[in-house]
Amino acid sequence: MTRRYDLAIAGAGPAGSAAAWQAARTGARVVLLDKAEFPRDKPCGDGLTPRATNYLQKMGLADEIAKFHRVNRAKIYSPSEWELSFPRRAGMPDHGHGIRRCELDTMLLNNAAAAGAEVRQAAEVVGPLVDDDGRVTGVMLKSGEKVSADAVIAADGAYSPVKRGLKLESQYNGYSAIAIRAEMPVNRPDFDSLDIHLKLRFRGDQLPGYGWVFPLGGGRVNIGVGYANSYKHWKQINSTQLLGEFMATLPRDWELPSIAELQKSKALQGWRLPMGFTAWPPWRPGVLFAGDALGAARPVSGAGISKALQSGMAAGECAIAALTNGGPADFTNYQQTVQAVWGKEYRRGRLFNKVAGIPALTGAALKVLDSVNHPGFRTRLLLWESTLSGR
Ligand SMILES: Cc1cc2nc3c(=O)[nH]c(=O)nc-3n(C[C@H](O)[C@H](O)[C@H](O)COP(=O)(O)OP(=O)(O)OC[C@H]3O[C@@H](n4cnc5c(N)ncnc54)[C@H](O)[C@@H]3O)c2cc1C
Repeated sequence: MTRRYDLAIAGAGPAGSAAAWQAARTGARVVLLDKAEFPRDKPCGDGLTPRATNYLQKMGLADEIAKFHRVNRAKIYSPSEWELSFPRRAGMPDHGHGIRRCELDTMLLNNAAAAGAEVRQAAEVVGPLVDDDGRVTGVMLKSGEKVSADAVIAADGAYSPVKRGLKLESQYNGYSAIAIRAEMPVNRPDFDSLDIHLKLRFRGDQLPGYGWVFPLGGGRVNIGVGYANSYKHWKQINSTQLLGEFMATLPRDWELPSIAELQKSKALQGWRLPMGFTAWPPWRPGVLFAGDALGAARPVSGAGISKALQSGMAAGECAIAALTNGGPADFTNYQQTVQAVWGKEYRRGRLFNKVAGIPALTGAALKVLDSVNHPGFRTRLLLWESTLSGR
């Protein structure tokens, strides 16, 4: 059976649901497909930056988001402790939130449905449908059903089956982080900072990554570690063990569960995090890539939710604009949008990751960061940009 839509979106994470919300508001026939049944979890630090909060506000979710645990700053341990405050900018929130992905993503999915998108859960995409000219014309579901559309948005995450099916040659290959995390109880009063620990070592090498402790409120935290694959021995790292070593550096009186307990309760989850663009240009005839399928996470911090929302909204808007004014063969408008907003930052970010993969350099930079007590300098050295939440 074949059904036809203006836009078929593979994946209903933040990127896919934002794209669906944006496109459906124009009156387009939009179908949003996900293999999971919601609420479903996604391995994440559950930390929302002010920028991500701002996109959720733009999507009409300000009241819902305000109910979740609020964070007002980031605390950096390098290992000495210092603060990176969220910038105050007109019209922008100066805070973020800690929010479980099962709750955030379900909220976004419902929001897309309320805007008019047809949502189909338990609909696993196995690959793109491609015509004789190489244009993507829809997706094939595991059930054998073909879903046809004038355009497809691949928002199907870090392991994107649509992207794999197309065997893309990407102009930029970015980097991936390997990250693992668990939610757990903590014997510590609720706090309002995203805590980031830069000292993360493997066999004496400083890694290009960090450990985090993000608050969820109600005596619960999300603790994890992530490191980029620009470090040449990254495959030798046992991420569970690394997380255990990191947790052992945290205060004993927090009474955190052991790694073995977390493993037993299946709270531990690892995932890939592509950064700095891994599908460039971000479109091919008939298809646009968004979120992790695009490698849209920020190359330095790995923050991916705001970039998933932003690229999803841009992809939804550009897809409909191109279909209205030309057709599905050319989504240069999307490429121009992404390039204009992030091109420079991501070019520098790819270079940053390359350099950060050299332990001697990263170790030396960390020592400088730790010893220079100047907030502006520290921010620039750490993020290669002026603010934590960036553009
Ligand atoms: C451990 C870890 C911690 C992180 N912490 C943070 C953080 O604190 N803050 C932050 O901003 N970012 C964080 N990130 C990054 C962030 O999680 C991602 O960048 C973000 O989820 C990307 O959103 P997305 O919509 O592109 O992809 P996803 O959120 O991965 O959504 C993809 C969707 O596609 C669906 N899907 C996959 N395959 C198929 C298929 N075959 N058919 C149909 N549907 C399919 C999935 O079910 C899923 O719903 C973290 C990442 C990791 C790995």
